[in-house]
Amino acid sequence: MHDLVVANGTVVSPDQGVFEADVAATDGVVSAIGDPGSLDGERVVDASGKHVFPGVVDPHVHHGLFRPLDDDAASESRSGLVGGVTTTGNIFRRGGAYGDIMDEFFEAAEANYRHDYFFTLGLLSHDHAAEVPDIVDDLGITSFKWYMNYKLDVAEMFDLEQNLLDDVSDHFLRELADVDAPTTLAYHSENSEITNHLTDQLRAADATGYDLIVERFPGYAEAQSMVSGANLARQHDYDDDFYVVHVSAKETANELAALREQGYGVTGETCTHYLCLTRDECDDRHKINPPVRSEEHQDVLWERLADGTLSVVGTDHISNKRANKVGEDIWDSMWGSPSSATMLPLVLSEGYHEDRLSLRRVAQVTSANAAKAYDLYPKKGAIRVGSDADLAVVDLEETKTVTPDLLQSAADYTMYTGRDVTGWPTHTVVRGEVAYEHGDVVAERGRGTHVDRPIDADAE
Ligand SMILES: [Zn+2]
Repeated sequence: MHDLVVANGTVVSPDQGVFEADVAATDGVVSAIGDPGSLDGERVVDASGKHVFPGVVDPHVHHGLFRPLDDDAASESRSGLVGGVTTTGNIFRRGGAYGDIMDEFFEAAEANYRHDYFFTLGLLSHDHAAEVPDIVDDLGITSFKWYMNYKLDVAEMFDLEQNLLDDVSDHFLRELADVDAPTTLAYHSENSEITNHLTDQLRAADATGYDLIVERFPGYAEAQSMVSGANLARQHDYDDDFYVVHVSAKETANELAALREQGYGVTGETCTHYLCLTRDECDDRHKINPPVRSEEHQDVLWERLADGTLSVVGTDHISNKRANKVGEDIWDSMWGSPSSATMLPLVLSEGYHEDRLSLRRVAQVTSANAAKAYDLYPKKGAIRVGSDADLAVVDLEETKTVTPDLLQSAADYTMYTGRDVTGWPTHTVVRGEVAYEHGDVVAERGRGTHVDRPIDADAE
């Protein structure tokens, strides 16, 4: 007798394709996969007519940026469960030594997350570079962020001795290349010499409206920086672990394809807003860096996601109240918007249902590939015996209209309000326990836990 059986569903396995099966869980892990109707459980979730995906791994969220981490962990993991999210990667940066400050954040996270989580830490200084081996050994954190958008600002922002110039980047790349455990370096592509200059010009011209942020952050400044960063990583034989976050521009996606053709191991992520929005639909609620661009960019990103150039969809989720987020004008509005809960539904609605991605590809880009990029696989991102039993049971034909209430985030606005989206979880399972069912989040605060890395890769 298994603890839980998700029975009679159509399993969408990232590595094995689509097939009818029962999936059983015991002690938090997948304990059996068998013919439909063949497995017995203490609890049975009937998945007849539904599809069983691996739980969504959203590798790119910022919890605790505008609100305390304990509040965000509780409310934003609640929201994530509505959309089938079972693991998030919280990208996080501070000026001081991480060894001194992370206890406090682990405590807030452990007490409040309703699904599992990991951290990715910004490397801002030579001190951070020198701390890399200790972070990996002592904190179970193996992923790091390289912020090219703050290259010329970190000294002032974080009270550091110097900016994030290439000597610092070179230092942390050497440290990362030396670490025995697998690591990840997430790269924010932006040539900030160019974008800072454009920003000054646009300010002087009193430019306003969403178009101005598109002009501030042109695609070529994203693409050029990506190639430059990837090449420095390549010089340290570290390109396999170089991961480009939130690719927004066709130029970047195409340069990424060219690098991969040359043998670089680089991978990249795009976000749902670059796939599902165009600049004409955007206002201050959508102020995000990089910006949402035109349909032409959107089409290339879908193609590059389908052909394997881009391997992951993330969200860059930030929760905020509308009154804080939206200011007098777009200059005055804050960066970042909430979107973890809509990630899988939107990729299904506008990817699968629009014939841009197969179901199996959806499972890869929303779960398995992020787990691989961040060295969580096959503990996370797989439906296999021995893997964590993290599942999203989805009704592919259910249409819901997006509202803030539907998503249960602390944010009182969404980027997609009013949009009809088809393909929603009816149940989300976290390590073998139902955490969300039919509109109700039932997982308590503290149900989630940190995914220590390197993981024990003992799944079959
Ligand atoms: Zn981000």
